[in-house]
Amino acid sequence: MLKNGFMGKILRVNLTDETIEDESLKSSVMKQYIGGRGLGAYLAYKEIPPHEDAFSPNISIYFITGPLQGTLTPFTPKFIILNKSPLSGSLSRSVCGGSTFGAELKYAGYDAVVVKGKAKTPVYLLIDNGKVSIKDAQKYWGMTSSDTQEAIKTELNDPTVSIVPIGPAGEKRVRFSGVIVGSRAAGRGGAGAVMGSKNLKAIVVRGNKSVHVADIKQFKKLLGETYTAIKENPDVSKRIEFGTPGTLASTYSSGILPTMNFSRSTFDGIEGLMPENVRDMLYVHNESCFGCPLPCGKLALIKKGPFKGMVLPGPEYETIGLLGSNCGIGDIQTVAQANYLCNEYGLDTISTGSVIAFAIECYQKGIITKKDTDGLELKFGDTETLISLIEKISRRDGFGNVLAEGTKRASKMIGQGSDKFAMHSKGQDFAAYEPRALVGMGLLYATATPGANHSFGPTLTAEKMELKDTLTNVKKGKIVRREQNRYCLQDSMVMCSFSRFGMNDSHRLRFVNAVTGWNFSDEEAILIADRIFTLEKLFNIREGFSKADDNLPWRCLNEPLPDGLAKGNTVPLESMLQDYYADRGWNRDTGIPGKEMIERLGLSDLVCEN
Ligand code: SF4
Repeated sequence: MLKNGFMGKILRVNLTDETIEDESLKSSVMKQYIGGRGLGAYLAYKEIPPHEDAFSPNISIYFITGPLQGTLTPFTPKFIILNKSPLSGSLSRSVCGGSTFGAELKYAGYDAVVVKGKAKTPVYLLIDNGKVSIKDAQKYWGMTSSDTQEAIKTELNDPTVSIVPIGPAGEKRVRFSGVIVGSRAAGRGGAGAVMGSKNLKAIVVRGNKSVHVADIKQFKKLLGETYTAIKENPDVSKRIEFGTPGTLASTYSSGILPTMNFSRSTFDGIEGLMPENVRDMLYVHNESCFGCPLPCGKLALIKKGPFKGMVLPGPEYETIGLLGSNCGIGDIQTVAQANYLCNEYGLDTISTGSVIAFAIECYQKGIITKKDTDGLELKFGDTETLISLIEKISRRDGFGNVLAEGTKRASKMIGQGSDKFAMHSKGQDFAAYEPRALVGMGLLYATATPGANHSFGPTLTAEKMELKDTLTNVKKGKIVRREQNRYCLQDSMVMCSFSRFGMNDSHRLRFVNAVTGWNFSDEEAILIADRIFTLEKLFNIREGFSKADDNLPWRCLNEPLPDGLAKGNTVPLESMLQDYYADRGWNRDTGIPGKEMIERLGLSDLVCEN
């Protein structure tokens, strides 16, 4: 019986036959997978039928917390959404903060919600302190993310209720549509499209139960240590002043910031995107996710254009990289405007910027013309191109219907060699790190199970600060495995990656031990991370993925960067891959985990049964 840190229950809802059931959470499973991403990988491997389409009603989508949600553990105002990605066909998890949803779900009596089936008409799910109902949402269909949240709050006469909604892009099954919760997004991996495919407009939660902490004395001690560490960390003030965009000056000077569809590393308009300018032009005040001691979020004000006067969450580093420099846009207010539209329509800003930059390069190379683009002339650095295409994608209107399929599918539809510069791995678009200037990130993009998702173990700090080498293959296999495992654990504890400003790996684990009463050592934690990551890999293998899918676009491997600090470099992928597979204990040549490894990780029964 799980008592400490967990509510002990999974809520299962089938929208096809409207059944609602509670299921007990097994202690033995949680000790193997902790929660969050780990629990999601376990459930999805068991339950998702192989080769089923990501939009099939036979597939579930998982909303999962971990043992720390609902306690006062710093950096835990988060929850995980896990689904089969409509972009890559692999398992995708997105971590979402901002609101109270993760904590509120626990207070309502559940550790996770699993939604299967498809409703006949649009609905939302109301989880009201243990009482669950499926409510009509036809009147909300077509509404933007923020309007949906406001309308449901009004209907329930409760301004504090926590809501996970989709926008119009999710309803239209734009393959890279996400979920916007308050001021934050679960952007990557198409969770919004999967909810849309189920006619599920939102999940709404409120509750007043409490989460039990096993060792309150130790918990308080850890709290004190964390707050002291945050206070004494010299990097914290910069993170609070600039947020994630504070990274941009350093990535640009190292040639890492993507520019014009990853075709180059220098950008004439860079001054407009520099952290000081972003702060001065946009920021109104700092914001933190629910109860977080590090307010890295920014509330921004658009000061010009059709959205003048609009207040929105300030663009993050990735958004500035993909909707900004990667589309040739140096005006931060245009980026903010594009960011606002993506949030309202429920689009992932990273994939949106990537597929638009890809389309512009196709146009500039003469591969597509105005006949293909509904009469639009596509140009880098052009506000109209950016905004028009966002609008079209969100509605799947004309050429937007092609781009709504994501870069991989769009390049297949367009053909003519455009796959050479379609910047994705396994269908998931690159984040704002140029792999030829940060080759370990290239290895991460290639090997991350859902495709090029930087948040599966970014290597920027390790390569720049620790190895002091961003351009060669040396030690990259080891570093990538270590960072992937670190993020695997964080995601399973459901903890913000910026917890690094106040905690190290051991410290995070001690919080889990204090809350749950478990006694995991650092070594056992690494085994758990290996187990979860390998299980995600086995999910992919069962779907038919092979070493050929652990790959990067032609451009990264064959076209040297034309300028910037990494000028002349390409990604030495093959040698890094072999080192990486060997470090993971998988077959060095095929990248397949062997029987012995599967046994060592305690996965044999699960794999045999399924
Ligand atoms: S560090 Fe930033 S992103 Fe992380 S929980 Fe705190 S406010 Fe949210």
